[in-house]
Amino acid sequence: MAEIIKKFTEEEYYKDFKFITNSHILNFNYCPYFYIEKRHGKVIELDKDYFIYGKGVDSILSKDDPEKKFFIGTSPKESLKDLEEYKKILENEISERAKGGKAPLKSQSEKLKKTEDKIRAAKNSKNKIVLTSTVFLNVMDTAKEILKQPLYRAFDNAKCQVIIATKINGVKVKCMIDKLDLKNKIIGDDKTTAQMTTFDPEMYLQQLAWYRWIVREVYGVNCDCYLAVGDKNSLFKRSSLYYASKSRIDYQEELNQEYIKKFLEYQKNNNYPTCINEEGKEMREKKCFKCDHYTYCKYSRQTEFIII
Ligand code: SF4
Repeated sequence: MAEIIKKFTEEEYYKDFKFITNSHILNFNYCPYFYIEKRHGKVIELDKDYFIYGKGVDSILSKDDPEKKFFIGTSPKESLKDLEEYKKILENEISERAKGGKAPLKSQSEKLKKTEDKIRAAKNSKNKIVLTSTVFLNVMDTAKEILKQPLYRAFDNAKCQVIIATKINGVKVKCMIDKLDLKNKIIGDDKTTAQMTTFDPEMYLQQLAWYRWIVREVYGVNCDCYLAVGDKNSLFKRSSLYYASKSRIDYQEELNQEYIKKFLEYQKNNNYPTCINEEGKEMREKKCFKCDHYTYCKYSRQTEFIII
């Protein structure tokens, strides 16, 4: 059986690229160039709203302490370092005036107070999920809606947010599982969706297959896989629980193994082709135009004259 070879904190887990995850493999399969740019830290990814919302729901469903996990409000755009430097400048200006027997200007006092408020917010929000109060209430409602599912109780004895980092057949792989109950052989993943009516559970079979594979290799347990899904819609909420049939997960596991094989081949030769080189212009419309990386991808830019 495979062994756990590294312990990650949640923060380290997201930054690390030495161990591959199911989403690395998905990115790689989408466009090897995109993957390698991301791996080298060249793709700047802003925390997308839906990602933060999902993290909030996960956190409530994992019974985290809200005081430690959430910051309700808005965190400043400036870095803590910049704010502290600016505060020093303002304090120096005020003390210079004091030396000349003058009181601080109203604008200086106001700026100092604002900067101090921002510093406090930056410190309090560090490593926390930052949500406005309205979004936080919405997040709570989504979690409550999911918890209303009678079968969600199947996860009662599960461990939450379980990180596993291991080496299988010489490949370093990792995963972070929302719910893992080895005794009852259950893997669960919590999801949020903009519209339950259009939610497609098939999109997550690859992820569940990745989790099942790693758990089986490390613990020798072949789990059943579930998805628990809740609506983000602020006007009304629904939830659903999906069971992924074994045969579908088996098939996805096979696909994942194919992706890993291809990935290792490219890695060995340090050659990560783009979808354009590989598949021609048609793919550019299918993939590049939908790719987040499009605006700054050197392969996606227009290279020919446009005749108007
Ligand atoms: S824009 Fe196209 S070539 Fe560039 S990373 Fe995206 S899919 Fe790949």
